[in-house]
Amino acid sequence: MLKFLIFIAAAFVLYRLFTGDKKKKEEKKEKETRQMASSGEMVKDPVCGTYVPVDSDIRVRQGEKVHTFCSFECRDRFLEQIEASSTGNKKVGE
Ligand SMILES: [Zn+2]
Repeated sequence: MLKFLIFIAAAFVLYRLFTGDKKKKEEKKEKETRQMASSGEMVKDPVCGTYVPVDSDIRVRQGEKVHTFCSFECRDRFLEQIEASSTGNKKVGE
């Protein structure tokens, strides 16, 4: 019985955390979008679509283009995509 009560309490706390976090995230996103619009120094993470500062440390150079990412997870996923597409296509002129 006690276990059940603890479970309920934990679920409630998690629920509160989740809903609070979600609201915060939305506020943050809105703020970021506004910042981006005013400063023009935000670029879109090509993997998840989040706007990140241009001077972020997580960057990948692909030819002439430099991609900026919100996290190393996104960067790794992007690199995997590049690898997958480059092995799929035949290399030309190398
Ligand atoms: Zn991302």
